[in-house]
Amino acid sequence: MPGTHDATADPASFRPRIPAEQWNDWRWHMRKRITSVDRARQWIRLSPDEEKAIAGSAGKYRWSITPYYASLMDPDDPACPVRMQAVPALGELTEFPGAEVDPVGDMYYRKTNRIVHKYPDRVIMLITEACPVYCRHCTRKFHTTDVSGTYFRDNEGGSFEEDLRYIADHPEIRDVLLTGGDPLSYQDGKLEEIVSGLRAIPSVEIIRIGSRFPVLLPQRITDGLCEMLDRYQPVWLNTHFNHPKEITEESAAAVDRLLRHGIPVGNQTVLLRGINDDVATMRTLMTELLRIRVRPYYLYHCDNVTGVSHFMTSVEKGWEIMEGLQGHITGFGVPQYVLTTKIGKIPVARPYFTRTPGGLLLRNYRGQEMAVGDAVHPITEPDAP
Ligand SMILES: *Cc1c(COP(=O)(O)O)cnc(C)c1O
Ligand code: SF4
Repeated sequence: MPGTHDATADPASFRPRIPAEQWNDWRWHMRKRITSVDRARQWIRLSPDEEKAIAGSAGKYRWSITPYYASLMDPDDPACPVRMQAVPALGELTEFPGAEVDPVGDMYYRKTNRIVHKYPDRVIMLITEACPVYCRHCTRKFHTTDVSGTYFRDNEGGSFEEDLRYIADHPEIRDVLLTGGDPLSYQDGKLEEIVSGLRAIPSVEIIRIGSRFPVLLPQRITDGLCEMLDRYQPVWLNTHFNHPKEITEESAAAVDRLLRHGIPVGNQTVLLRGINDDVATMRTLMTELLRIRVRPYYLYHCDNVTGVSHFMTSVEKGWEIMEGLQGHITGFGVPQYVLTTKIGKIPVARPYFTRTPGGLLLRNYRGQEMAVGDAVHPITEPDAP
């Protein structure tokens, strides 16, 4: 039944039955977020390792799960890809060589309390440290999930004047990406103050929002929110689906509301060990995203972030996945595979050609090869299909 959690159709029949009125209200989910073992047990049967990780991360990492996201979890399987993204794991508490709290250098490029200016024409604005669910793999784990982290210290709620002035004083900034934490953690009124403040700066051409609410709590994407954002167009939104299980009627409806208000929706996936590090899962994810009209944008290689390293894969695994997408599905279902570093986002997919003395040697998605000359005329006949 759309918009309700139907406990009778659920093999996890021990789960609470929530009336539709509450289930469809994002504020109810925010108030009822799961932050204790007892509350988690209403939705899943915690494994001994999960309980150990919850106890072990106390005072170190926050955790919080919306009832909506918990309802997507397999109640019995700790290896459930939804569960692994949200329930603390012992791997977070293990030290990995080379791990850093800020491998992408946000702090290094930070110009004001909230502005990170790393590329010439665009900035990110970290407007909150709050998220509906604290993803275990967050690349800004130090800022969002670490209880003593946060770039803001005590300064999150302060004035936006300095940040807006920085952008106005740098007219080369045409593109502002609101991120965090999750910017949609703010109520619409506060968000509108920020977005209208940006729109009042003539040199700001596009406003982008990075939000995982469409995945973690799609009920947050109300008509009211979309109408408000629509008043400040052009506005783009990128979200963060990592697994086909996250594509639900509710998330598709949230995407549909954004699109109907003229807000294009893109997706950034993180390549995560044990969650989506196989071709079949990724191919399903990308084609299902297209079906709900979300455009795959980036596939991020998982960085060696403190507390996140256990999710890392090899770059070769990323190549295998990219090559399982390219050519097998339409080109606009294929994200760009990037490594985020202190010198920027670096595309790291393998090229489909090598330089030869007189031209290029091409390969296609099936491994067939063909040589072309510099003027791109065929030198060899293609293999028979
Ligand atoms: C990712 C990022 C951006 C936006 O990059 P796009 O490739 O334009 O999506 C901007 N600033 C910083 C610091 C970033 O990390
Ligand atoms: S919603 Fe985004 S910013 Fe928040 S914890 Fe998850 S990945 Fe990090």
